[in-house]
Amino acid sequence: MSKCPCKKVEACMGSHLPVYSTLYRHNQSIKEIIMKIAVYGKGGIGKSTCSTNISVALSLRGKKILQIGCDPKHDSTFTLTGFLIPTIIDTLQSKDYHYEDVWPEDVIYQGYGGVDCVEAGGPPAGAGCGGYVVGETVKLLKELNAFYEYDVILFDVLGDVVCGGFAAPLNYADYCLIVTDNGFDALFAANRIAASVREKSRTHPLRLAGLVGNRTSKRDLIEKYVEACPMPILEVLPLIEDIRVSRVKGKTLFEMAELEPSIAYVCEFYLNIADQLLCEPEGVVPREVPDRELFSLLSEFYLNPDQGEGTGNLEELDFVMV
Ligand code: ADP
Ligand code: MG
Repeated sequence: MSKCPCKKVEACMGSHLPVYSTLYRHNQSIKEIIMKIAVYGKGGIGKSTCSTNISVALSLRGKKILQIGCDPKHDSTFTLTGFLIPTIIDTLQSKDYHYEDVWPEDVIYQGYGGVDCVEAGGPPAGAGCGGYVVGETVKLLKELNAFYEYDVILFDVLGDVVCGGFAAPLNYADYCLIVTDNGFDALFAANRIAASVREKSRTHPLRLAGLVGNRTSKRDLIEKYVEACPMPILEVLPLIEDIRVSRVKGKTLFEMAELEPSIAYVCEFYLNIADQLLCEPEGVVPREVPDRELFSLLSEFYLNPDQGEGTGNLEELDFVMV
């Protein structure tokens, strides 16, 4: 049963105002969400960085955005809010899982550019299930009616798909977006994610929007993979020091660009991705490459760079040769 915030006293005078005022309007009409996007990729590849900046880019295009961090690291929305917001699981635990005692302002925080932010949090380490956490998060947001307030909901999901639990956000998504670099490990993870998308698309209206190349000036290995497993490449971002700094400063690139206009060119990468997503691309239902085929495809590329367009990343060579 949902609640009315009019009974609550406004609490936060800080810069990160809770957003309940927009969530509960009398006579509100529940509208359809235009789009739900799940961002996946190997750990540390730049999912949260891409997610937060794409969220701001979408917001700049006039959309109302909710970003849901689904990584136990719970730092998905850090560059939007500037701090680690309380997680849904922590909040539910503190209320003894009484959903009716949770208010939107307990769990939804407004970040830079008007992007609303939620962190699902993690299951107890070594016990519990990431899928359960995501399920509880969506259940609570639906209970609060928050799930129906947005034009775009973006799930920023933990690293690789290691089990069905981590694929849970795909149950709610219209599109999956994969972040990868030009190396073996991230492309291997991308291939497993592609397999999960194919599997989920049997029962859900889910498509793979495509790949975002990140932290790489080369795209030869990415292209080799895409030849074997066709999917769109939406953008390729090089390694950019200002992006690394943005994490340290707890700011999105868009916020940094307000004071440093020279950074504006970085924002264009994210705006380009956002614009492609807003076009509701056809995307693909991928057909992943079998593991052994993928190993030989990628290792052949490293060992015989002349046959490819460019050279593989030599740092990966030892691993591939084993
Ligand atoms: P993930 O969410 O996939 O674990 P993050 O988004 O937290 O990864 O990124 C990991 C680190 O890489 C962060 O310090 C981030 O600032 C940095 N980073 C991400 N993309 C880039 C890039 N294109 N250039 C430089 N640093 C980047
Ligand atoms: Mg992250």
